[in-house]
Amino acid sequence: MQETLFVSDIHLDAKRSAVVDLFNQFLLQRALHADALYILGDLFEYWIGDDAPYQEYQDTFNALKRVTENNVSVYFLHGNRDFLVAQRFAEQTGVRLISEEYVATIYDQTILLMHGDTLCTDDTAYQNFRKKTHNKFLQWLVLLLPVKTRLNLAEKLRNTSTQAVAEKPADIMDVNQHAVEAALTRNKTTQLIHGHTHRPGIHEFSLNKQSYKRTVLGDWYTQGSVLSVTPEGMNLQSFSEI
Ligand code: MN
Repeated sequence: MQETLFVSDIHLDAKRSAVVDLFNQFLLQRALHADALYILGDLFEYWIGDDAPYQEYQDTFNALKRVTENNVSVYFLHGNRDFLVAQRFAEQTGVRLISEEYVATIYDQTILLMHGDTLCTDDTAYQNFRKKTHNKFLQWLVLLLPVKTRLNLAEKLRNTSTQAVAEKPADIMDVNQHAVEAALTRNKTTQLIHGHTHRPGIHEFSLNKQSYKRTVLGDWYTQGSVLSVTPEGMNLQSFSEI
């Protein structure tokens, strides 16, 4: 069967080992037989540079390698947690890194792929924070710090983010419709797949008599969430073995 899979927001974390196991199982049982797998960001709960040791992710690295060695193309697009994932990870796993706005052709359909955080333009505090974390010079400086210091920094940022998220009204953390329309127009596509908001769903809308479709992937906090695309259509699935 021809099938291309999309996932995002797995947030792999040693503290949630059932999710790690479920995802590794998904890779070896399902992705292994797909045409391609697209991971649209936040695969990892944190990533402090390719040079750090990641004991808790080792099985996932191995599973990804098995999948890519089976001639399944696996693509990774950065999320807001793992934007420092770089070439060494790609070489270790065989995964291809793609740009933050990537136009893919999936069975003759042109689809824009994004993580989704850049679409949440109402959250100005987050967008300002993002500008800093995506500054190449700042990233270079941070990567010069010892691993231990970077770990502490990541931990602090995570705590601040959890607190900020808890205090923000829910609609601020969803995508802004104008930002969605701008991204589709800019990339000349009528379809978009993204994650980040943890609000799985398929949204259809029309604009100037043209119909558009935005598909949102779910997170892997309490279950598995995957979008299956075949030549016949798409199917947003969730499954649980946790
Ligand atoms: Mn995210």
